[in-house]
Amino acid sequence: MALSDHVHMLGQELRIRHGTRVHKISVNAGFTCPNIDGRVGRGGCTFCNNRSFTPGINGPESVAVQIERGRQVVKRRTGAQKFLVYFQAYTNTYADLQTLRSLYDAALRQPDVIGLSIGTRPDCTPEPVLRLLHKYQDQGFDVWLELGLQSAFDATLTRINRGHGWEEYRSAVQAAHRLGLRVCTHLIAGLPGETSWHAEQTLARVIDLGVEGLKLHPLHVVRGTRLAHDWRSGAYRPLEQDAYVDTVAKLVQQTPDQVVYHRLTGTAKPPLLLAPDWCAHKWPVLNAIEAALATSSTCGAKVHGTGLSSRESALTESRG
Ligand code: SF4
Repeated sequence: MALSDHVHMLGQELRIRHGTRVHKISVNAGFTCPNIDGRVGRGGCTFCNNRSFTPGINGPESVAVQIERGRQVVKRRTGAQKFLVYFQAYTNTYADLQTLRSLYDAALRQPDVIGLSIGTRPDCTPEPVLRLLHKYQDQGFDVWLELGLQSAFDATLTRINRGHGWEEYRSAVQAAHRLGLRVCTHLIAGLPGETSWHAEQTLARVIDLGVEGLKLHPLHVVRGTRLAHDWRSGAYRPLEQDAYVDTVAKLVQQTPDQVVYHRLTGTAKPPLLLAPDWCAHKWPVLNAIEAALATSSTCGAKVHGTGLSSRESALTESRG
């Protein structure tokens, strides 16, 4: 059995749709974030240090140059022939419409690019931007709106200084759905004050809204964040790997088959990563999730099947 026998992964869906392996290429288009620059808040989310999820990418290299470099690396490593450009760092709808159009157009003009994944905040999705994304979708491109939510509990969102609540998220999802855009929601397990019960409740509320995609991360502590201070003082203790794997397995089993998982874990590297150590490596975590799901499926839980190996299916979404 493989991970993709148990989880509907983005990699397998893209491979079926496009008849070849498709890989995400992350770009940093030089945006900032309204929760950092003062428009919504200052200091950002307590766990946020964007260098932890965009290592080695330091704009302002053009989007085209970043895509070309990413294409060479990904082709060599995975043999992928087509690419989904992932605007990842900070808030990738936080600019005027003309600037956004020019950046997204530049990405879609590159050879073998089949679409866009746009990472942003729920309070930064004005209708004209959603319409622009919808226009690309109408032109035949794959488009995902990736919304950071992390938790459906407003008390947690306040605690981690998200600068928005559940209501902004709900409203953004509904606005995107009115235009027929697909939404991938980012959730974090191991948030301060939360247990796996909170993660399951969050999942249920998100699924009720009809989201099409999910991305799961363990909360990990990186340098230069307020969470690092809490961890050093003992006020925050990260999840153990076993607890994370157990939570992910439960969430996957409670997810309808049509929902696509873009990612099941997240990593950072020392010295940026402070804790937990297991967040430095992806494969042991993915293998443990696969084993947990395989054990559950022999006990009667659902099995999802397409036949890609766990390495193949995770590679296709490894930078998401
Ligand atoms: S919304 Fe995203 S980019 Fe902005 S502070 Fe939070 S995690 Fe960082």
